[in-house]
Amino acid sequence: MPSCEEREVLIIEDSQAVGILLKDFLSKLGFKKTRYCENGKTGIETFKEMVESGNVPLVFLDYNLPDMTGFSIMSQMLAIRPDVKVIIESAREKSEDVIKDVIAYGAYQYLSKPLRLEKIKEVVETLRFEESQIGDDDASKAIEKIVTNSTQISILRLAQYLNRSDSEILPHVRRLIADMKAVQIDDIKEIGCPRCSSVRTTQTFHCPKCRGTSFKQERIIEHYKCGNVTPASSYTDDKCPKCHIPIKIFGVDYRVQENFHICNDCSEIFAEILIEYLCLRCNDRFTLEHAKFFTSQGFSRIK
Ligand SMILES: [Zn+2]
Ligand SMILES: [Zn+2]
Ligand SMILES: [Zn+2]
Repeated sequence: MPSCEEREVLIIEDSQAVGILLKDFLSKLGFKKTRYCENGKTGIETFKEMVESGNVPLVFLDYNLPDMTGFSIMSQMLAIRPDVKVIIESAREKSEDVIKDVIAYGAYQYLSKPLRLEKIKEVVETLRFEESQIGDDDASKAIEKIVTNSTQISILRLAQYLNRSDSEILPHVRRLIADMKAVQIDDIKEIGCPRCSSVRTTQTFHCPKCRGTSFKQERIIEHYKCGNVTPASSYTDDKCPKCHIPIKIFGVDYRVQENFHICNDCSEIFAEILIEYLCLRCNDRFTLEHAKFFTSQGFSRIK
């Protein structure tokens, strides 16, 4: 594994002030190679570049970026390299459950904003200690790291992550099984890219009208009398925004529908989110109908 001076850091943070503060502080802690991005899109592109040039950076990710959610950025990175360490920062007050969710989805740590330098130092030192226990980052170690962190992983995915063939990977996995560090499980069926056959894909969520990715959940009120169907927030002082008659009795003159979404770009109101898949290898976008499916042997860490 690279020494701390070699270890690269990627900061994805829309506040320049916070980005600079973080970069300076990490430099004091010995991290000299830092790249900084202001939004999710360039963050992911930079991450891919770094991985392709042979470095898996330590990532500091702002959870509330203007263009993408922290979850979506983190899941794309984890699909590219499941062993990436992502440290999530968030300004909004998050409940214990949300933090647990972020960690369950694979974040290494969670930092609340405003950032406390002491806390960053503690996280970085813990990470260094853990990694010094892992030792050399050769293929066998990389396989062990991925498999022992997976509740389930297919041989195909493992081979694609490490850019090797199944037959090169298999002896390493068999050794992990013999050492009681992993077990064989059932075959795993996975979705793959129709263009390049990669199983490194991620779901993306869109407005069905404009395909935009920025929308929020809304309660919708339907006013029976005039047929108006708009978000609850448009009924100011309980008056219908179309006919201006007050809405009175729930179920008699109006109804509420939960679980609708409103697009921030085109204002479309919709119940069904358009789901697409993005290939993280060739960037092809495809729908479920066009996906390829692959089945290969599954493995799991010891529970
Ligand atoms: Zn592809
Ligand atoms: Zn839209
Ligand atoms: Zn009305």
